[in-house]
Amino acid sequence: MIKGGTKIYCPFCKEFQECQRIDLPHRDWEDKDQRKQHPEHKDLAWFERQRKCLECKNQFTTVEIDKDVLDELIKLRATFDGVRYEVHDLEADLLKLNDRLKNFQNKLGLQRAIGNQKVKVSRKSERKLQTLFDFIN
Ligand SMILES: [Zn+2]
Repeated sequence: MIKGGTKIYCPFCKEFQECQRIDLPHRDWEDKDQRKQHPEHKDLAWFERQRKCLECKNQFTTVEIDKDVLDELIKLRATFDGVRYEVHDLEADLLKLNDRLKNFQNKLGLQRAIGNQKVKVSRKSERKLQTLFDFIN
């Protein structure tokens, strides 16, 4: 194994490994400045390094940033996870409500269908019913 690297978390091995700083071959079209700054968020500035894991030989980029930025990222992730769980719960509640609404609509539709049906009564039966009605009253 080649020595000389710093122990850094390798995103491929998913653990801290000996990693070597490497220089990429120079290309004219590429921005070689390792000092970067976000064009819209000027407070987001960092120093980039290309690394090669000496265990798995994969390459990746690391950045050196102000710790406050990292703390902000951790808080944002926690907030986002909380919102995601709430949205998941709300979706489950909405699905349940949707099922209840469909059941209600089905029952309502059935009641309307029954209510709209006209009962056919013969003239003879109608007279009998009228007689019965008169007797009751
Ligand atoms: Zn690795």
